Amino acid sequence: MDITALRDQAIEAIERAKNAKELEEVNKIYLGRKGKLTQLLRSLNAMEAGERRKIGAAANALRDELHETLEKKQELLARLELQEEARQNRIDVTVPGKRLPVGHLHPLTHIQREARRIFESMGFSTVQGNEIESQHYNFDALNFPPDHPARDMQDTFWLKQHRKGERNLLRTHTSPVQVRYMEQHVPPFRIIVPGRVFRNEATDARHETNLYQLEGLMVGKYVSAAHFKGVLEEFYREFFHTPVSIRLRPSFFPFVEPGFEVDMSCVVCKGGGCSTCSQGGWIEMMGAGMVHPNVFKAAGYVPGDWQGFAFGMGLDRLAMMKYKVHDIRLFYGGDFRFLRQF
Ligand SMILES: [Zn+2]
Repeated sequence: MDITALRDQAIEAIERAKNAKELEEVNKIYLGRKGKLTQLLRSLNAMEAGERRKIGAAANALRDELHETLEKKQELLARLELQEEARQNRIDVTVPGKRLPVGHLHPLTHIQREARRIFESMGFSTVQGNEIESQHYNFDALNFPPDHPARDMQDTFWLKQHRKGERNLLRTHTSPVQVRYMEQHVPPFRIIVPGRVFRNEATDARHETNLYQLEGLMVGKYVSAAHFKGVLEEFYREFFHTPVSIRLRPSFFPFVEPGFEVDMSCVVCKGGGCSTCSQGGWIEMMGAGMVHPNVFKAAGYVPGDWQGFAFGMGLDRLAMMKYKVHDIRLFYGGDFRFLRQF
């Protein structure tokens, strides 16, 4: 084959190569150990001197040219490959995003916010308290006698004693905030205190070691039990979207005098009797009463100067009533099948 034809063939093959592998193949065919140009160069020895010089020079020139052309093509392919890679990795800002799953508020959070909204609409301010309390605020200042069973290990999570005399605990109710607030403020005022409380007891369908309460306190010159009844009726009417009746039964709590248990007419049967109210037509909702003079004293007030009411309602209880949930533990179980319903 003559050198010009070999050259045209080789150059065309290099141009045709679409990738590094094909280019390597071309290299092998022409410049490899058994390549066409290599063989031509080897055959020079068998030629006579004149021809050998002529063809030899041309063959060597062609070898250099092919090496150079191959190298250029190699660089071109590498550049194209980079461009292709960049094209594939390009970020298209107009492509719609992936939708991430969105959660929602826990049913107890809904209940707490709804309760706050209603009380705030009646002029109550929301106050927060400590979840770790001292024995003084949780019991002593609230007129609990030293031998009251609530102080027992059975009911209270006591914390390790660090300083002599002062013993801390996880608050068993939101009532400590009553005294803490009164120490800092002068009546008249009305506040609510939503928050977590803790009980050291066995759990069942109606008891948990952790629950949510909403404390209420209204103090002024002439605040009476009638005001309490009015506020509560308004709250329940708004909360359950239906008129309800309230019934106060005498009861005992150390920090109130008189104290009462508050029943609400059953919102399911409207007082006719059903399984929710155990056929009685009434549902026990919370404890309340008129603030005990000893509590005013503990807060630094002169008891005769002021009067007011206090109550503590269980938000879990309220949620169970509103959503008709029969087991309080469902609220804390973290089971999505339950939580997704709200
Ligand atoms: Zn009922």
